[in-house]
Amino acid sequence: MTRALVKRGSAESDTAVVSTQVPSPGAHEVLIRTEAVGLCGSDVHAWRQDAGYEWVQVPVILGHEAVGIVADIGDDVDPGWLGKRVVPVSIDGCGRCPVCQSGRGYICPQRSVLGLSFDGAAAEACVIAVDRLVEVAPDVSAHAMVLVEPLAIAVHAVSRLSVADPSASGEIIVTGPGPIGLMAALILHQQGHRVTLVGTESDLPVRLSKAESLGLRSSLGDSLPAGISLWLEASGSSQALATAIENIDSGGTIVVPALFARIPEVDVNLITRREIGLIGSYGASRSDYAKAAEHIGSDPHFWEQLVSPFLLSDASEVLGRVSRGEVIKAILIPESSAPAPETTGLVLSETPDSALSDLPADF
Ligand SMILES: [Zn+2]
Ligand SMILES: [Zn+2]
Repeated sequence: MTRALVKRGSAESDTAVVSTQVPSPGAHEVLIRTEAVGLCGSDVHAWRQDAGYEWVQVPVILGHEAVGIVADIGDDVDPGWLGKRVVPVSIDGCGRCPVCQSGRGYICPQRSVLGLSFDGAAAEACVIAVDRLVEVAPDVSAHAMVLVEPLAIAVHAVSRLSVADPSASGEIIVTGPGPIGLMAALILHQQGHRVTLVGTESDLPVRLSKAESLGLRSSLGDSLPAGISLWLEASGSSQALATAIENIDSGGTIVVPALFARIPEVDVNLITRREIGLIGSYGASRSDYAKAAEHIGSDPHFWEQLVSPFLLSDASEVLGRVSRGEVIKAILIPESSAPAPETTGLVLSETPDSALSDLPADF
């Protein structure tokens, strides 16, 4: 038997850590022993059964931000995978349509999401198709490597900005200091851009203070710099998108990795008259995953500062903490992968004063 975080119904109390059969890998599949799995806004939306998540079939094991070791393989799988450390691609397509053939399976009309469309990785072990695996370095802390999936989403959003304007020299604004916005701002900052990360009062105690401690300039949006050429909208707030359209320079580009609970109304005339580019960003490509793993491998201690580790058995309570914005990135460690209790620091940390924060969804 194995322990897993399973959503079994629509009530919050229907999601719990329970014992299930250890799955066995079928053809073209591998069994991964999970080292760590992150929780994000999408898990919280699924847990709370928020609008837009009715499509999630139950029962399903949650968890799409994972790192682990290949422990068993099914038929037709290269035995070379055994013992490899891997990160599963969270959103992937059918592999056959023109979109997939162009390398953009994450926007395939038939795409599926690990831990929502089918059983995920918030478990001691999970089974996944071998063609969904990205190999990562074996010698970097799992507490850092578990960030590959969300960092890949951020790398992808940043790449959509650069596509728009490879020689970006002006100010860059990032609205929404959740994990994706914060990570995108950190990447841009490390690239030498002038970045301001904008949040709300409720983001001050945890997210914006962490951003400042990592060297970022933060703001409540009251005094934005002049000369904004690029804007990344990661909050999912209609008001933030409207502010972006009003404040960006003519010819500027806005990239939107956020999903909106309400469809925003925007002033299209401003977009037209100022030739503002408005570009969506969803999921991440294989090469975004590889770049994210490289970023983490080159400075794991830096990225690990975003992570708050908890034991898998505490997952139900941790979902509450994520929903209240008390942590930047909660990760779950299966007891079977956790070191001895004295050395782990895997305690439920003190609850800071923090109001409800926006929780943009990934999917
Ligand atoms: Zn996520
Ligand atoms: Zn496809």
